[in-house]
Amino acid sequence: MNNTFLEKKADVIIIGGGPVGLVTALKLTLSGISVIVIEISDKPYAEPRASTFHPPTLDLLDQLGISSKLIENGRKSKKWQFSFFNSENKVVFDLGILSNDTNHPYRLQCEQINLIKIASTILLKKNSESISYNTRAITISENTQSVSVKAMKGEENITFSGKWLVGADGANSMARKHLNVKFEGKTYPSSSVSINTTFPFHDYINNLYGVNYFWSEDWSFSMFRTKSFWRVGYSPQKNLSDKEALNDKNIQDRLSKIVQIENRFGIQSAVIYRIHKRIVKSFRKGRVILAGDSAHLNSPSGGFGMNGGIHDAFNLCDKLIRIFNGSSDSLLDLYSRQRKYAAVSDIQETSDQNYKKHREKNHKKRLEALNELKKIKENKEEYLKYLRKTSLISSLKDASRIK
Ligand SMILES: Cc1cc2nc3c(=O)[nH]c(=O)nc-3n(C[C@H](O)[C@H](O)[C@H](O)COP(=O)(O)OP(=O)(O)OC[C@H]3O[C@@H](n4cnc5c(N)ncnc54)[C@H](O)[C@@H]3O)c2cc1C
Repeated sequence: MNNTFLEKKADVIIIGGGPVGLVTALKLTLSGISVIVIEISDKPYAEPRASTFHPPTLDLLDQLGISSKLIENGRKSKKWQFSFFNSENKVVFDLGILSNDTNHPYRLQCEQINLIKIASTILLKKNSESISYNTRAITISENTQSVSVKAMKGEENITFSGKWLVGADGANSMARKHLNVKFEGKTYPSSSVSINTTFPFHDYINNLYGVNYFWSEDWSFSMFRTKSFWRVGYSPQKNLSDKEALNDKNIQDRLSKIVQIENRFGIQSAVIYRIHKRIVKSFRKGRVILAGDSAHLNSPSGGFGMNGGIHDAFNLCDKLIRIFNGSSDSLLDLYSRQRKYAAVSDIQETSDQNYKKHREKNHKKRLEALNELKKIKENKEEYLKYLRKTSLISSLKDASRIK
């Protein structure tokens, strides 16, 4: 073991080079605050996860010069539907009616790796030392003036020190564990499978939009269209192990319930994941602040996790910039109150409703849910309210009113 000890300093140390850590890093860098991002992977982290960018997130990312690049790599979906599969019994929502609320009145379907690559490229151009890849954050210590992270890069020990530490290190956050705060909530009973396939479903099924939530006789599934793939999501059958659910035969069987073809479906990736609804009591303790999945988890139904985390990042950066300009650090407690409110009252609540609605198997209850959505659409004010809620426009506004 090499016993060299290196010390690296920046104004703000960020653990985690996922979407939340990198957006935080870029926003602070562009405001003249130095950062170092510690990332365990040896390159931008590429697991297929988020693909939905909501309108206000694109408005925010525009400030960093990122949205146009994401749009180049993604596919706009102005309309989305909730529908009985292969029937005309459906509700189609049109985000175009939000054109007075946002510069991006659509959902963008674009894999989260694009954001990670774009943000890290800009960041490294500004400062080639601002991301430390292949580096595992291990312990955190702090005093009244600063905070330090001991980390390992290969065989090398490095201490990263700064004024503030942002824990953007995801669901298994070591920063959260260091704070010793409970991550309260629950794990949902059914997990979810997400398949990226190159199969051109749009050539076989009429009236597909970029975002589709379907109920079929004995199951339900979602279909999202990115620039390169269709992403199909569903709960695996109850009696299957994770390995069985991801077995190629099983995947082919599931996809052939959507369209029957003679050959196999081309599978680009297949993942299975648990779904949680969890939140920390406070997003801040001392000099350590949590953001994104390290602070809150929700069902991906509705596409809110990454979006909510990016909203955390912007809110937090706004407070940190003011603190570096002389404001009181009590602003970080305001950040915690505001973003906890958004996570609990909007994001978790709506994604929980989506989770239940989408997995409903009882036909009568499905009809009731669809009729409720149809009723919303008939009333202009209710329709606007619903679209503002499901695209997180009202979540941002409601959170900013919290004192
Ligand atoms: C299949 C799927 C689909 C989803 N779809 C959507 C969607 O459409 N829209 C949406 O908004 N959300 C979606 N989500 C949720 C979204 O992916 C997450 O909310 C988002 O990735 C959270 O970003 P983050 O930066 O907080 O954490 P992460 O993306 O988990 O990033 C954390 C980073 O920290 C690094 N790290 C962890 N520990 C350490 C350590 N000790 N030292 C150094 N580095 C460390 C990791 O390597 C990682 O790069 C989806 C999730 C899944 C699983």
